Amino acid sequence: LLTEAEEYVDQLSTNKQQEIKALKSQDDFRREFIGNLSHELKTPAFSIQGYIETLIDGASEDPEMRDKFLERARRATDRMIQLLEDLDNLTRLENPELAIEIRPFNLTELIQETFESLDWMAKEKNITLVQGAEYGPLIVMGDKKRISQVLVNLTKNSILYGVQNGHTKISVTAIEDFLLIEVKDNGIGIDPKHWQRLFERFYRVEQSRNRHEGGTGLGLAIVKHILELHEQTITMRSTVGEGSTFSFCLPKADKSITLSSKGVPIK
Ligand code: ADP
Repeated sequence: LLTEAEEYVDQLSTNKQQEIKALKSQDDFRREFIGNLSHELKTPAFSIQGYIETLIDGASEDPEMRDKFLERARRATDRMIQLLEDLDNLTRLENPELAIEIRPFNLTELIQETFESLDWMAKEKNITLVQGAEYGPLIVMGDKKRISQVLVNLTKNSILYGVQNGHTKISVTAIEDFLLIEVKDNGIGIDPKHWQRLFERFYRVEQSRNRHEGGTGLGLAIVKHILELHEQTITMRSTVGEGSTFSFCLPKADKSITLSSKGVPIK
């Protein structure tokens, strides 16, 4: 009886220790997250403050200087808004009730829409967006709005870290009951030493936090989160100087789903 009691106490203590460890790591995560967040918000906020002060101190009298500082202040404001939007997205994804709504949708069409919405950005670098999908409408099960965000984030990155006159290709391949979706670029690539942390919030390859260009460091964290809600994983392969490919799967919609002549699923 005594050994049984001892075992019980031992077990209890192990459980408690594990619980404490989990809480500690959550706490570390929270602390690091808030630290990163305030740093990320401070950078544009200080820039805006600086530009406004310079304008007040007389720069506004010179039209050329005025325009330059106003333009920079605007860019810093855009950055801040993008950051807040990404954060808002992450918060929503963490609320299981708001998280996702799985329905059949036309993937071919969504890829086209993604390319159309980012055409302006691709043009700035003369990057060609290529759709290498199989023929016909491809119907998958997923949350269209969320998957749209996945495709937008991955395509945006492929342009942002792409090369002048480069290309980005989204291809779709059927594998049994799934469709494999690949976003492939011939951009700068990613060194293997970054692979493990790439999908963490605020992680960026370019460590200089003060850079004005680029994204928020939340894009891939959002991608990973959305795919996890779909019970899928995102994988990545890359060669420095040659390019990167990000891929994930979505289940094909039931074959019995009827399509209208435009390829839109009819409920
Ligand atoms: P960011 O907002 O900085 O783009 P992400 O989470 O989207 O943040 O990406 C994290 C980092 O991964 C980026 O800073 C970039 O260095 C790297 N990265 C993402 N996609 C690509 C790509 N297609 N090619 C090269 N590097 C990439």
